[in-house]
Formats: sequence, structure tokens, C-alpha cells
Amino acid sequence: MEYQNILEEIHATLKNVPEKGTVASYIPELEKVNINRFGLYLLMLNKEEHGTGDFDIPFSIQSISKVLSLAKALHFTGADLWKRVDVEPSGNPFNFLALLELEKGIPRNPFINAGAIVVSDILLSYFSDPKKDFLNYVRELAEDDSINYNEAVARSEKATGFRNAAAANLLKSFGNIHNKVENVLDFYFYQCSLSMTCRQLARTFYMFANSGKNASGKVFLTPSQAKRINAVMLTCGFYDEAGEFAFEVGLPGKSGVGGGIVAVHPEKYCISTWSPGLNEKGNSLLGMQALEVFTTRTGLSIF
Ligand code: GLN
Repeated sequence: MEYQNILEEIHATLKNVPEKGTVASYIPELEKVNINRFGLYLLMLNKEEHGTGDFDIPFSIQSISKVLSLAKALHFTGADLWKRVDVEPSGNPFNFLALLELEKGIPRNPFINAGAIVVSDILLSYFSDPKKDFLNYVRELAEDDSINYNEAVARSEKATGFRNAAAANLLKSFGNIHNKVENVLDFYFYQCSLSMTCRQLARTFYMFANSGKNASGKVFLTPSQAKRINAVMLTCGFYDEAGEFAFEVGLPGKSGVGGGIVAVHPEKYCISTWSPGLNEKGNSLLGMQALEVFTTRTGLSIF
């Protein structure tokens, strides 16, 4: 299969479509990005790599970071983690605060913001220098020390993240935040500000395609933990569009409001896309279309 040609064709077809969606503006710093950026990157399990377009330009990975924080937290706590966060799709947007669901202070899943904030709190309890330790973890996964936070994005979200502050306070009132709310939010905003290229993203997520081992074979998760995280990506990775992504693309994956998407085919490959324009559900418009064409053309979906 000529993967490089397929990626180039997808890129050429989609890059000129007039309808590219809308760049996220609720985090003011994210609005500065060029809407015409478009990159695709494919990393096969045998390390064959293909890229096209802006695959080497860093962008804000935002909610994609929630998969990495979940992986590290699960590594620390084991299955006890699921006592504090559930694994059901929410059918609601990422920033939805359902008071009834939070009746017991247990967020629906680790990828809506409330769930990710609990996961950040877990990491804070285990790390000695949380921001540094988390960054080192991500660098180790990707084997790339050039990965960093984007401080301007973190500060921008910190200044405007009132709904996340509300979620954290609500969770704290139920006893499901163990550290100081202020510290949890500060860590969460930094985590979301991680800046990566499509190439770095695919390398970082290689372990989810490889039963918990990164590209050098280093073990970060057990095969069972990797399986469970892939299941949560499939059912919850796109919020109230998770059904649509499974239907159109047919892979576990995760989106972020920076316009990135990463998707995984266990035992086969990992693919990442970046196009900053979002659809009305907050997922990259062209990224979803690109992945739909890729799995349809190659037949490489999990279904
Ligand atoms: N940091 C963003 C927020 O909490 C992440 C949202 C996302 O990428 N969907 O709002």
C-alpha cells in the first residue's frame, strides 16, 4: 500500500476546501494560529513513517494530553483510579458540568474536563515536581527532549478558565480533589498547553498501538492498561461526537481544541492530524475528514 501517496492525496484534496471550521477562541492565545495549517503523519508499528503538510510544526495539543495524564495516573494507581473516574461516554461537550452526574463527585469519564481534572489531581499526589515530572514522562515516551509546554497558552487559559475552576471546586466539594484546587488547575492548564508536532504526537502515542511499549520497547503500561485506555478513547475521545468518529473513522482516538487528532490502530499504526479549524462539537473538521478518507481508502479500521 502506498501510504505516502494516500496521505498526499488526502492533503491535496482537503487543503483547499473553503469550509475549514472555526479556530477555538475561548482560550485567547489559541486564536492566533493560522487556520490554513494542515499536517498528517503516519507511524506504522514497524516504524515506517510518512508525513505530509505541516507535520513538523508544533501546536497546542490541549485535550490530547488527557490521554497521557490518564496513562501515567493509571500506572501509579492501577485499577483504583476507576473508583474516582467512571468510563461511560457522556454525550455531552468537553466542558459540560452535569450536577446530577456529579452527584457523588465521580465524573463520567477521564476525557471530559471534570474527569481530566481528577486525573491531574491524582498525578499531583504522586509527582514530586508535577510540571517537570509530567514533561519528562512525555519526553521519555516520545524519546524527544525538545517537547515543551507553551507558557503563553497555559497563562492564557489560566486567566480565562472559569468553567474549569467551577468543575474543580465542585469536585473538591465532593472530596474527589485531594490537593489544593489552585495547584490542580495550574497543573491541568500546563498539561493542556503541551506543544507538539504531528510527528511527535504519533511517536508519543505509539505505546497505545504497541500494548504499552514505546518505539524503543520500553514498558509504560501493561497490555491490559493499554487496552483499557484505547477503549476509553474509542468511546469518549470525541465527547458528544465519539459515535460519529467511531462510525466515520473506526479507530480509538483523541482530539484537542488546538485542532489536533491522534488515532490508534492497536498492533498496526498510529496516525495524527492537525488542522486548527473546529466543527461545532470542538473537534478538527478537516482532521476528521482526513482520517475518514484514510481508513476508508486503506481498509485499516478496527471494524
Ligand atoms: N484546556 C482545554 C479546556 O480545558 C482543553 C479542551 C479540549 O481540548 N477539548 O477547555
